[in-house]
Amino acid sequence: MSYIEPAPIIHSKDPLASMMKRFHVAAEHLQLDEEIYNVLKSPAKKIIVSLPISMDDGSIRVFEGYRVIHSNILGPSKGGLRFDLRVNLNEVTALAAWMTWKCAVVDIPYGGAKGGVCCDPKKMSFSEMERLTRAYTQAMHDVFGPDKDIPAPDVGTGPEHMAWLMDEYSRARGMTINSVVTGKPIILGGSLGRIEATGRGVMISTLSLLTKFKVNPFGATIAVQGFGNVGSWAAYLLKERGCKVLAISDIAGGYYNKKGIDVGKAITYRNENNGSLQNFKGADKISNKELLSLKVDVLIPAAMEDSITEENASDISAKFIVEGANGPTSYKADDILLKNQIVAVPDILANAGGVIVSYFEWVQNRMGFKWTKSRVNRRADIIIKQGFNSVYSISKKYNVSLRIAAYISAIDKVSRTYKYRDGSFTFQKKNAKNS
Ligand code: NAD
Repeated sequence: MSYIEPAPIIHSKDPLASMMKRFHVAAEHLQLDEEIYNVLKSPAKKIIVSLPISMDDGSIRVFEGYRVIHSNILGPSKGGLRFDLRVNLNEVTALAAWMTWKCAVVDIPYGGAKGGVCCDPKKMSFSEMERLTRAYTQAMHDVFGPDKDIPAPDVGTGPEHMAWLMDEYSRARGMTINSVVTGKPIILGGSLGRIEATGRGVMISTLSLLTKFKVNPFGATIAVQGFGNVGSWAAYLLKERGCKVLAISDIAGGYYNKKGIDVGKAITYRNENNGSLQNFKGADKISNKELLSLKVDVLIPAAMEDSITEENASDISAKFIVEGANGPTSYKADDILLKNQIVAVPDILANAGGVIVSYFEWVQNRMGFKWTKSRVNRRADIIIKQGFNSVYSISKKYNVSLRIAAYISAIDKVSRTYKYRDGSFTFQKKNAKNS
């Protein structure tokens, strides 16, 4: 008997430690009650499933899938589904908590969750991917629900996966329930503007930041790490607003053009080249390491967690960082960036455009109505700008980085909501105060 080689496990560093460190610092600033600290630091639910899938060659492979619900204090939990070889429980747990803080920062009535399956989508056929998504949905059919837990796309998944997920969930319930998932194809109830929403939010955050620091966005130089959904849309929309995108990259390497990259051309090239920028001719080849150290106004990490760590943070020459990815900066890198006066707009604010428009999609599905793209964009832009201004004011009030200010804003909102919901807590505290 011969066994199929297990897929190599490539763990990212420690995103959970990075999330917890910032949570702790913000909690200290807020002088958070110990009980609430303990409630908020612990995920509400962690689910691990084994998914046996028939592969196209007739073999059966078993994939491990996760769903972590960090919190449902503000509302049903919300968070993407990631298909990637690096997926592991530590990463999914951190990503779930970040969703809680992200929704709270931009005042969206959702808690936080995240899902993932450890697999290599680049090596799977379309139908293998469909079977995997359906098996994952079956395993989670009691977890998901429009009022319980609402998935969305993330790295390695897109609108097709969301369509299969919606279909599988609807079959189990015996009726079409499109609000169980967001990021769906438009024809199935997806929202106009959802595809570009995260990159658009990154663009709005970048412009808000540059304006606040009196840097003219017109001609401001940009480098973008990661050229998937988030990175490519952010680059495209920033170029449209007059910024100069000097460098882009994907997992295979970077591309630099001192006159500015034609981002539209790069997107077309990537789309026609199986999702990869490999051999793109509109720029000179550079390494991912070189991209991170370019002298630009704004560096946008839009790939994965822990791209900026204590090992490379001191090489960064950008004036500003706007985090398109979730958790791209490790907590050990924070101090180095701060020391070098590099201002970072944190992930939980900068990339919130995606969850904001996901929320709009869910609202439209429940109304049975469709908004125009301009209405979606206008409303999402306002929310991101308000989020940015509020976080900026908190950073001044507490004299902390924008990152810690964003955590303070989020934790304050979730903890205050929790206190209202848990009457015994309020009662106990009142009695303690009166005694
Ligand atoms: P994607 O799969 O579409 O793109 C990821 C890109 O990063 C690809 O170009 C890939 O080649 C590149 N990449 C991966 N590892 C890299 C490395 N080591 N160096 C350079 N490039 C690398 O994913 P996406 O949806 O664009 O998500 C990117 C990040 O943004 C993730 O952290 C995700 O969680 C976060 N995010 C996504 C959304 C969304 O709406 N898609 C919303 C919020 C946050």
